[in-house]
Amino acid sequence: MSPSFAAPGPRSGAPMGTLRNMPRKRELAEYEAKRDFDATPEPPARRARKPPKARAAAEAAPRFVVQEHHARALHWDLRLERDGVLASWAVPKGIPEDPKRNHLAVQTEDHPLEYLTFAGEIPAGEYGGGSMGVWDTGTYETHKWDDREVMVTFHGERVQGRYVLFRTRDKQWMIHRMDPPADPTRREPPNDLKPMLATLESKPPRGDGWAWELKWDGIRAIGYVEGGRIRLLSRNGNDVTKRYPELRRLGEALGTREIVLDGEIVAFDEDSRPSFELLQRRMHVDSESVIRRLVGEVPVTYVLFDVLWLDGHSLLDLPYSERRAQLRELDLNGLSWQTPPHEEGDGSTTLEISKQFGLEGVVAKRVDSRYEPGRRSRAWIKIKNHLQQEFVVGGWQPGEKGRTGSIGSLLVGYYDGDVLHYAGKAGSGLSGPVIAELEARFAAEARDDSPFGAGRVPKGVRFVEPSLVVEVRFTEWTSAGNIRHPTFLGIRTDKDPREVVREMPG
Ligand code: MN
Repeated sequence: MSPSFAAPGPRSGAPMGTLRNMPRKRELAEYEAKRDFDATPEPPARRARKPPKARAAAEAAPRFVVQEHHARALHWDLRLERDGVLASWAVPKGIPEDPKRNHLAVQTEDHPLEYLTFAGEIPAGEYGGGSMGVWDTGTYETHKWDDREVMVTFHGERVQGRYVLFRTRDKQWMIHRMDPPADPTRREPPNDLKPMLATLESKPPRGDGWAWELKWDGIRAIGYVEGGRIRLLSRNGNDVTKRYPELRRLGEALGTREIVLDGEIVAFDEDSRPSFELLQRRMHVDSESVIRRLVGEVPVTYVLFDVLWLDGHSLLDLPYSERRAQLRELDLNGLSWQTPPHEEGDGSTTLEISKQFGLEGVVAKRVDSRYEPGRRSRAWIKIKNHLQQEFVVGGWQPGEKGRTGSIGSLLVGYYDGDVLHYAGKAGSGLSGPVIAELEARFAAEARDDSPFGAGRVPKGVRFVEPSLVVEVRFTEWTSAGNIRHPTFLGIRTDKDPREVVREMPG
């Protein structure tokens, strides 16, 4: 940056007209330089037009366009007609509808006026490769326009009202809505919605007023979609978005809609059955390169069964049947997300499918029930085909035969109040990679005394801090509160150990 007292350079002596034109030319030159017009369907750059004299000032309201651009990262391009070109900003989250929320707007090169109506597919590999569609267009009024601040009122189909763009630094600007929200009843969803939980029963409920869904054996996730981005929160509030990059496209597919979804992230095996064991390979990975590889090897599907918020309005108090109707209308069925149908009536079809395919069970939901975040409600009843739940690991026993010295089985328990109750030891289902991971973890979390405060703990075991939650399948509960024939299914990172209790059919 030149100090303010620098001697005037040659340019400062140039006539005003030249100065005003130079940046314009340079900016359209930038548009031209970035593109190969043999390869892209975009309009070629022309010389900046002089404001047409034919258009009388009164009727020559300048035009604007907002394009939805599915480039490498989805964004919206705001372009305002000005001095014969289109001044342009890329807005990653779109035009804000709420004055409380300002969005980043990155200034980009000026575009030719022909771009006002451009929609098409820019080939991959070209600048801005991806599809471009017109999201909104109309005219605008200018209240202020300088290098730091542009204040306008939009008259579009979707965007209306007064906005200001203000520069924060270099090419970075913010866009702020100055008018009250277009929809004054609009509310932001709370960012910590917890999933509603089902109560375990041994038998399906009878009578009318139930809807039936398959129970999906994966991890529960609340999906927040805003500005074309999805954010996935697990049951215990952990952000797991980065682990499942294939679900990003769901956010992009929803464009500018604001939606909160409830569903289960599931990995399907070769027989199209949900496999918690397969999902294990995705649940604990943090390395971006490994995640990228695993997307191809163990793809996941976000199985959607509820919608909690829609375009600024809570659906929590609507009955299940109406939330379901809204969900169906969204038609969320893509490569990595599905909205399976539900059954109304006696549930016989759902029950039969779940047994026939050896699935975990079914969930029956009252069609007239509201959504109760974080509550284990009796309006949702789960019925399992086999016994399976999460347990807390409190120790381990060395293996016999080939596994001497290493982990042979896990001592698991559940909380009864503040007391960790020993439930049994799970040995089958433990595989080499899991054992290696557990060994490293247990080495750091070993303790001398038993974390179990109840139940008969076997001798010759090693104790660990009760911080690990695992999923275990078993055949029955004994009268002493132990589990029989347990099989280890996998590690859970989506549940807090202190929430692990014995699940008893009511
Ligand atoms: Mn763009």
